[in-house]
Amino acid sequence: HKKAAEAEEFVFRSKLPDIYIPTHLPLHSYCFENVSEFLDRPCIIDGSTGKVYTYSEVELSARRVAAGLNKIGVEQGHVVMLLLQNSPEFVLAFLGASYRGAMSTTANPFCTPAEIAKQAAASKAKLIITQADFAPKVKKFADQNGKYIYICIYCPVFNLIVSWTRNYIAGIKVVCIDTAPEGCHHFSELAEADEAEMPAVKIDPDHVVALPYSSGTTGLPKGVMLTHRGLVTNVAQQVDGDNPNFYFGKDDVIVCVLPLFHIYSLNSIMLCGLRVGAAILIMQKFEIVRLMELVERYKVTVAPFVPPIVLAIAKSADVGRYDLSSIRTVMSGAAPLGEELEESVRVKLPNAKLGQGYGMTEAGPVMAMSLAFAKDPSEIKSGACGTVARNAEMKIVDPETGASLPRNQAGEICIRGNQIMKGYLDDPEATERTIDKEGWLHTGDIGYIDGDDELFIVDRLKELIKYKGFQVAPAELEAMLIAHPDISDAAVVPMKDEAASEVPVAFTVRSNGSNISEDEIKQYISKQVVFYKRISRVFFVETIPKNPSGKILRKDLRARLAA
Ligand code: AMP
Repeated sequence: HKKAAEAEEFVFRSKLPDIYIPTHLPLHSYCFENVSEFLDRPCIIDGSTGKVYTYSEVELSARRVAAGLNKIGVEQGHVVMLLLQNSPEFVLAFLGASYRGAMSTTANPFCTPAEIAKQAAASKAKLIITQADFAPKVKKFADQNGKYIYICIYCPVFNLIVSWTRNYIAGIKVVCIDTAPEGCHHFSELAEADEAEMPAVKIDPDHVVALPYSSGTTGLPKGVMLTHRGLVTNVAQQVDGDNPNFYFGKDDVIVCVLPLFHIYSLNSIMLCGLRVGAAILIMQKFEIVRLMELVERYKVTVAPFVPPIVLAIAKSADVGRYDLSSIRTVMSGAAPLGEELEESVRVKLPNAKLGQGYGMTEAGPVMAMSLAFAKDPSEIKSGACGTVARNAEMKIVDPETGASLPRNQAGEICIRGNQIMKGYLDDPEATERTIDKEGWLHTGDIGYIDGDDELFIVDRLKELIKYKGFQVAPAELEAMLIAHPDISDAAVVPMKDEAASEVPVAFTVRSNGSNISEDEIKQYISKQVVFYKRISRVFFVETIPKNPSGKILRKDLRARLAA
């Protein structure tokens, strides 16, 4: 690192000029800063019911939700967990929490009760907003007010608990957006509160407003502290300024099929959509034919997707049955998009410009985006992730020496700017490992910047596995595997998969005398994790390759798989 400091620094910036960003504003004020221009226009269209909420309705309801949160005991700085599929209530709850000065921690409602309990306990959530379908999962531990709960790893083969953690639960309330089972509040209690009763809240730009969970470059999922300043900056980097990077505006209909609990959808669809005054068409979940029906009915113009959805469209035999010609923009992000896929979308959606975005939860998330949608688009190179976000700096560093690298040389992508996270919640060591002393966030991705300022991602240095854009942390699965008495060691790595991009596979060492089978191991894991963390294959090996300090040589295992 000393050597690197002495050497020349190569720092890359956007092709576009910097812009003014009102970072003093709280996130909700920033999103609604221009709302007077589109008060009566549609803000949210509920794809399930067809109900339309105008901008004035959404803005008012969000303030009412804030008053309602206050009324049921949510204070400034408290954490509210949103355990919801996509719905208008998700948007209102997030904005309401922001107005209240609270933080929203988002989670996948299909996670197992243990996974949800872990996040609720770690984030110290005071309130969980969920749906009737998922309420039984949370009621069990939410009722343990003032008690310790034990989150266990259970071995069905031996019928015993093999590992556990103890977490303190302090008075979590549960709110349901549809029917509220006994002991739960109904969302109407929040949405129908009197906004005039909301006390004034002074929000500092460095207060945390969103707390998504991510494993980052290593280890278990951690709370990523995204501040008002950070999110305002990142939204502005995408949609503000009078320059060609406007990729959508108030005349657009943007489809929100990606889950809002992931930062990509929360930021690049919901927050960006609100800021520009677009109509946000909310789909509760992805279903290809339904998606195409809705695109046709509402004349969707902007379609932010992930590669598996792009693949589904490319492969769907039904594409010809629907008029998808309104789509002018397809944005793909969260995982690599192959060149063949890019090409097939160009064939199926000839009116659409296709571009990629590159992000990471900890980075706010967007670090680079394509200018494919610019008023005056530059030529889009196949496979490129676009140019660096404005008002940010990017560096490509040699992972061995820490030296910054010039154009066309691949190394670890690092980003710096107001948009990056404040740090991991209650985890200063992990924060220090990720953000260095000069403020550079190390992404764990390998890429390079070419002669035209286009970023290309070529590999991933970090452990993370991405199944259809969802995060799978190998450390979480490895801990479960090693806790099993029949397994003496294990490593989990990604295997390429056409439909999912990647799936987790395990290399395991059986304990002496054990005959445990692949199926038994798969079942053991499946019972404890959400569907996308299930292990797809198990390979039995004599030893797990490790370096002298005991770190798993994941690259060797990935090479073995590739071979
Ligand atoms: P998450 O924090 O869940 O958004 O995951 C971030 C990670 O997803 C990044 O660090 C990359 O490894 C991967 N990723 C995101 N966007 C892209 C992209 N356009 N191409 C390749 N990988 C990507």
